[in-house]
Amino acid sequence: MMNQRQHSQPPCVSLVGAGPGDPDLLTLRALRRIEAADVVLSDDLVDARVLALIKPGARLIHVGKRGGCVSTEQRFIHELMIREATAGLNVLRLKGGDPFVFGRGGEEMDALRAAGIAVEVVSGITAGIAAPASIGIPVTDRRHAPGVAFVTGHGREDGGAGVNPDWHALARSGLTLVIYMGLARVEQLVAALRAGGLAADTPAAAIAAAHTPQQRATICSLGTLAAQLHSERITSPAVLVFGTVVSLAYVQSLDYREFVRYA
Ligand code: SAH
Repeated sequence: MMNQRQHSQPPCVSLVGAGPGDPDLLTLRALRRIEAADVVLSDDLVDARVLALIKPGARLIHVGKRGGCVSTEQRFIHELMIREATAGLNVLRLKGGDPFVFGRGGEEMDALRAAGIAVEVVSGITAGIAAPASIGIPVTDRRHAPGVAFVTGHGREDGGAGVNPDWHALARSGLTLVIYMGLARVEQLVAALRAGGLAADTPAAAIAAAHTPQQRATICSLGTLAAQLHSERITSPAVLVFGTVVSLAYVQSLDYREFVRYA
């Protein structure tokens, strides 16, 4: 039996960040919302151990869109959340990492608000910080960089709103670069950064499935990254890190079991 909200309460959806993997990295507020939810709409990247915290009897709907038709699915997600929240259910939209970092959280918030539904945002630990940190890379170490840029490597080929990254400007920025969704186009993005003046020997790292038992990482340089990813069989989801902060990492190449031993 699902908990209906009180009629006096306006419909509300919680947009919750699930962190990069391990449930230990959830915020307490995220945990409370997960335990209270009647309906959970979850992305692909949410760890199974986090989904296991959903209360018995709650409905779990996987709305991941890997390889799917993005616009149709996104509209479907909006409609589903609006319908369930209007019916008085506790609706939770669960996203990997942080809901406002490359997660379409902003678009979902807009659609919900336009439908008169209140939105609560529960921040999560984003992969762009947690994945490098898991191998000892502090992305804004002041001895190395004045800041960090989180950038999508995916590009926009769907004609949608938004802009492609200015790789030349990023190459010259002096910022640590953390690239999300960059594996599929790694050759192009390395070439663009090289063309923008970033040296081939710039330290580079790739960290895959951080904070999960499948975690893998490799440390190399901008010039060797593409070959290294191939030989080490690093696969998605992974973040790429460029900049001298990578030199602070305390492991060269590892899988999660080795990491646990050394940590
Ligand atoms: N909202 C998420 C990002 C969603 S975009 C966040 O804040 O982390 C999806 C991309 O995130 C992946 O392609 C990958 O680049 C990165 N990512 C998500 N989880 C990851 C993990 N556990 N380890 C490494 N990269 C991860």
